[in-house]
Amino acid sequence: MQKTSYNIAIDGPAGAGKSTIARLVARRLGFVYVDTGAMYRAMALYFIRQGIGPEDEAAISQAAKAAGITIRYEDGAQQVILNGENVSGLIRSEQVGNMASATSAYPAVRAHLLDLQRDLAAYTDVIMDGRDIGTCILPDADAKIFLTASSRVRALRRYKELVEKGEMCNLQEIEQDIIERDQRDMTRKIAPLKQAEDAVLVDGSEMTIEEVADRIIQVAVSHGLKVE
Ligand code: C5P
Repeated sequence: MQKTSYNIAIDGPAGAGKSTIARLVARRLGFVYVDTGAMYRAMALYFIRQGIGPEDEAAISQAAKAAGITIRYEDGAQQVILNGENVSGLIRSEQVGNMASATSAYPAVRAHLLDLQRDLAAYTDVIMDGRDIGTCILPDADAKIFLTASSRVRALRRYKELVEKGEMCNLQEIEQDIIERDQRDMTRKIAPLKQAEDAVLVDGSEMTIEEVADRIIQVAVSHGLKVE
């Protein structure tokens, strides 16, 4: 498919702030924000509902075919639809996140989402975040960012989010979980999390959200984006 749009790819580990920042950049540039993690999470929810364990690759691969994922936008916000049901409010738990991390390593799961993600970017100016956007999904993206932050900073952010929601949690356990998830995402055989050769590395550990957004827009402008 011929690309007629401007695409920004943001990859990086869990909790680096990709979605918050991508949403902000999208608003500032008038782009559409595509959250690919939400698609893996919706698939994971389907597997949980089917009662399939994350280790059972054969059953997951078979079930993946029956998980119809589509995307819709409501007031600019991405909604993930699983077999006709809007599951956007059901996919943010740790349980779904861990299932998504485990099952996204399977080729059948990734293949199921590849065309959907590419099609979304073909005709629309998008900022798309995930783990393999710059390396696999949109290798020709106009601007690529690898956004990271230390595991401690990422764990602290997650901890504060959970505390605000009134959930009981332990900072050490959250950091350990983040380290394990990074490890799984970086060492899987297919589409591992890694910085694309032509991606710009941004470490947001000591930066505000606004500063990271400014930096990303700066990178896009230096890669040909015209802003008024
Ligand atoms: O980014 P988020 O935490 O919502 O993603 C959930 C899981 O989906 C990640 O831990 C990762 O394993 C997987 N994922 C992926 N490729 C993407 C986006 C997410 O493998 N492009």
